[in-house]
Amino acid sequence: MSESSHAASGTLQPLPMSAYQKDLDTLEVAGLTLHGITRGGIETCLMVKELRLMFDIGMCPPGFQKYRDVLVSHGHADHMGGIGYLISHRRMVGARPPRLHVPVEVVEPVRRILAAWAEIEGHEPPFHLYGHAPGEAFDSGKSITATPLRTAHRVPSLGWVIERRSQRLLPEFADLTGPEIGEKRRQGVTITSTHQEPLLCVTGDTKIEFFKEHEIVRRCRVLVHEVTSYDDRCDVERTRHWGHTHIDELVEVAEQFTGEALVLVHRSARHSRKQAEEVVAQKFPAAMRDRIHVFGW
Ligand SMILES: [Zn+2]
Ligand SMILES: [Zn+2]
Repeated sequence: MSESSHAASGTLQPLPMSAYQKDLDTLEVAGLTLHGITRGGIETCLMVKELRLMFDIGMCPPGFQKYRDVLVSHGHADHMGGIGYLISHRRMVGARPPRLHVPVEVVEPVRRILAAWAEIEGHEPPFHLYGHAPGEAFDSGKSITATPLRTAHRVPSLGWVIERRSQRLLPEFADLTGPEIGEKRRQGVTITSTHQEPLLCVTGDTKIEFFKEHEIVRRCRVLVHEVTSYDDRCDVERTRHWGHTHIDELVEVAEQFTGEALVLVHRSARHSRKQAEEVVAQKFPAAMRDRIHVFGW
């Protein structure tokens, strides 16, 4: 239907829930709500409302409008294809310009794409584009730090580690009463130290080396790890060739994960959720099966 026929009917009716919305999954785990879509080669966009962060853009699935801060793993179209629409839509609805955090290597090509879109649309919607090298952390507000780490993929790619800072009373002051703590503060005594907890890591696309090489990834409270292949239709060697993880590779090292939830995303369209869940039930050590979640329909 063209826009003019909408206009002729007088009012814009809300769209019925699309099949697309039904494709979105939600998982509440370890105090975080993961919401979105993530299927290998199709679309990846994960929203986490407690952190006010969106990981990758996909094709801007329903709900993306609520997120101003977007952490992008890499430039493959299934992860970033909606970037022009995201910027344009925020301008259209009067939202503040988005803050897009991307691998430094894609900054210039993305600027060229967005300049071409601006030419096509006849105006330049505003945005902030920040290029990050591995290790270049930034403060995303509310005591949250986001640190990108290099993953092992076919193009420059980042996994994002999210940490929350809090102040903890030093052990030597643990027995003080409230008024005594207040008095120490007034005297200028340092009574707390900063504690940094790794809450979440979202790997983006990667081979298993990312898990093996970064100790902090293995102790995040929630680790959202890509597993693209679940059987030998695409075996370990071929999966690695494409820069992805095969389930057998994760099973081998999974017991090194000490967090609360290991969430498997980016499943290839070859595999149903049911098949993935059966493979998880068969292959992971019994002691950790209840910490493993298959995400996405
Ligand atoms: Zn991908
Ligand atoms: Zn990719």
